[in-house]
Amino acid sequence: MFQRTVTNFGRNLAFTPREIYSPQSEAELLAVLNACRDRRVRAIGRLHSWSAAPVADEMLIDMRQMHNVTVEQRAEGTWVTVGAGCQIKRLLSELEQGSNVTLPSVGLITEQSVAGAISTGTHGSGKHSLSHYIAEVRIATYDPATGEAIIRVISEGAELQAARCSLGALGVVVSVGLWARAQYRVEEHFKRYDAIDEVLAAEEDYPLQQFFLIPWSWDYFAQHRREVIADHSRLATLYRWYFFLVFDIAFHLTVRLLSRVLRHRWFVRGFYRWIAPLTVIRGWKVVDTSQKMLVMEHELFRHIEIEVFVQRSRLTESLSFVEQFLKHCDGDASAISPATQTAMQAHGLQDDLDRLCGGYTHRYQICVRKVLPDDTLISMSSGAAEPSYALSFISYERPTQRQGFQMFAQFLCRSMSVLFDGRPHWGKVCPLTAMDADRLYQELSRFREICRTFDPSGRFRNDWLDDVVFGLGGLSPANAAGDSPS
Ligand SMILES: Cc1cc2nc3c(=O)[nH]c(=O)nc-3n(C[C@H](O)[C@H](O)[C@H](O)COP(=O)(O)OP(=O)(O)OC[C@H]3O[C@@H](n4cnc5c(N)ncnc54)[C@H](O)[C@@H]3O)c2cc1C
Repeated sequence: MFQRTVTNFGRNLAFTPREIYSPQSEAELLAVLNACRDRRVRAIGRLHSWSAAPVADEMLIDMRQMHNVTVEQRAEGTWVTVGAGCQIKRLLSELEQGSNVTLPSVGLITEQSVAGAISTGTHGSGKHSLSHYIAEVRIATYDPATGEAIIRVISEGAELQAARCSLGALGVVVSVGLWARAQYRVEEHFKRYDAIDEVLAAEEDYPLQQFFLIPWSWDYFAQHRREVIADHSRLATLYRWYFFLVFDIAFHLTVRLLSRVLRHRWFVRGFYRWIAPLTVIRGWKVVDTSQKMLVMEHELFRHIEIEVFVQRSRLTESLSFVEQFLKHCDGDASAISPATQTAMQAHGLQDDLDRLCGGYTHRYQICVRKVLPDDTLISMSSGAAEPSYALSFISYERPTQRQGFQMFAQFLCRSMSVLFDGRPHWGKVCPLTAMDADRLYQELSRFREICRTFDPSGRFRNDWLDDVVFGLGGLSPANAAGDSPS
């Protein structure tokens, strides 16, 4: 046990829990929970979230030492049990080397812990989020009858839907179980498009694709991807080096320069209109192992991100709004269309919108990824009848220079929520209000009920969860009379 200030990857969170524990076994974890029954508890993975989800004021449990991976061949397939703190990259490597299997879904990076990734609905493109595939969750919590710390195994029904993406509110996830899938290969190539319809039409051929709306040229680059039965390309290693040196390193160094030194808007326009397109080799089709093709080294340079999910039927109008809004923030007072203006007025957002004009220049491509509907209660693509698309907005400004981005993110979240039912990623910048959360997530009240059966006094929550997810608005769980914000 010790005390220190904890910071996250994005350096936008810093908090000093009274106690920090890093248990090595379930027995040690239960002993810690039994010794500290009067404290509020939060577990963390690798602190790659930007939202306040991992913040702990009293007791922090760092799960990094609980990372065992067990693989079993069962009649139905390959079953994996993985310790909560295991990083995704370690899990992928053990699965591939030991059994030539892999995870059914991965995000852009593999630095996260398994429990951290599922707790916020981490996703890639073309599949469900990882949470959806989780078939068993073992959770350390308190027995409501005896008050003793116990492990509960959750493997079905609404409890499993809740545990698949729980923001840590059910208790401390100890391990998760899921079916692995056979390792597979992915083919990828880049293509430029003028219009969103053409990009979406290509999804039929490339179900795993993601694409980028390029700011200041407002065209699209699609990273067409599909699963193939084919050998690795002869030049796959060369492609990986090209990708690493050009995109992971050179591109991001340039964006950092544009965000921190050459900040005038003309530099960023020139870069996206004239230089960036030249770095993309179009039509070069490369086949390689799934996890090599689907991830990148996006964690190399510190940044901050908000990501908003909209359903397929709202995607085109959302992208049009994003273009207008980014131009407006950059100082183009005529960018907002009359229809958008009317909608802003109807929702009482006009004054805030006016204040943002000229307050923020966006300097990073907007990545758009498709996420299939999840069988969970509160992950961002849960409860949808159609696929969701996650639109991501990233800033490489210095942590001390992010005021413009924060105002932009706040307005983006609010406006996309009321205009398009947009849901912000729980793990990224998440300025969601309790009222919007209640409206956007139809199963939120069921999630709260299940949390209450696991944790009646709210010991596994923090202020942010109490406020946004539980709608308590500053009331302690014990004193709160009602549940939903009105
Ligand atoms: C560079 C970068 C790239 C990213 N790319 C993607 C991406 O492609 N797709 C995507 O969806 N997201 C992405 N993210 C977001 C990231 O996947 C999520 O924020 C994820 O939750 C972080 O996992 P973590 O292990 O760091 O968890 P933390 O940030 O430490 O915790 C996240 C949440 O999980 C809870 N938690 C963690 N461990 C436990 C446990 N054992 N028991 C109970 N609760 C627990 C915490 O309390 C907190 O609520 C990215 C983030 C970064 C920094």
